[in-house]
Amino acid sequence: MSEQIKIDIPPQDGRGFWVAKGQTFSVIDPEGQQVADLWAMSISAGEIDWLSTSQTRDITERLFPAPGESFYSVKAKPLLTLVQDNSPCPHDMLFPACNPGLYERAGLYDHPNCRDNMLRALQAADISLPIVPDPVNFFQRSEPQANGKLEVLASNNPPGGNVLLLAETDLYVVVTACSVDFHPTNGGHCTGMALTLGNPKIMVFYLALLPSFIDLSKAGVSEWAILASITLVTLAAIDLSWTFLAHRARVLLQTPKAVRFANRIGAVAMGGAAAAIAARN
Ligand SMILES: [Zn+2]
Repeated sequence: MSEQIKIDIPPQDGRGFWVAKGQTFSVIDPEGQQVADLWAMSISAGEIDWLSTSQTRDITERLFPAPGESFYSVKAKPLLTLVQDNSPCPHDMLFPACNPGLYERAGLYDHPNCRDNMLRALQAADISLPIVPDPVNFFQRSEPQANGKLEVLASNNPPGGNVLLLAETDLYVVVTACSVDFHPTNGGHCTGMALTLGNPKIMVFYLALLPSFIDLSKAGVSEWAILASITLVTLAAIDLSWTFLAHRARVLLQTPKAVRFANRIGAVAMGGAAAAIAARN
């Protein structure tokens, strides 16, 4: 039971992942100057809704949400909140994803691009959208200039620059590490992206279940020290075991369906533990 899940996105590639309502995740630019495109979709009762940059501009009345503000869907529902912006970049919500036409105009054929990478991630999750929505372009530097120009400058994101986002509903999120290498957008060469996902189950455990075992109001410094030591040793032992098992299970658990199944099993186990404690009291 790791507290964070890490996903690495190779240069000029993309990844899709599910996040639950209340879950946070960070989009991290490990080497700096790399733009990340992001899409988010919510699917409930067979109905699909997706992040709309134009609705977000309309509702926030800004070119880009400020920390604490949300990204909205086509149906004007908040999907993601920008919790922290640990980057000096203005970011962008005016440009489309890079696409085959953009590269062909530059004489580059069969070039990797964010649009195709996003469509592949959707296909892997068995999701179809009627359109390819415009993405949120994190770490992009292309603010409108006084003369009306929209020029894309080299990103000034430092190595490790990142944003922290909160899912306002269950979402499928796609992030791509932008493929533009013929223009300064990504600092002249493309690098990868890293994602870290907070594990909501561990937060539920600490907030809801731990006080059922221990009266935290009566715990002194020595009790807290013991608790912290037990937690550290237990997590280290469990994580090491998981690392070993995950290495073996990696091939088996690569499909999105298998990941969903595993998440459900985890949720049922946690729910069972909660029910058992409730019954005991
Ligand atoms: Zn791109």
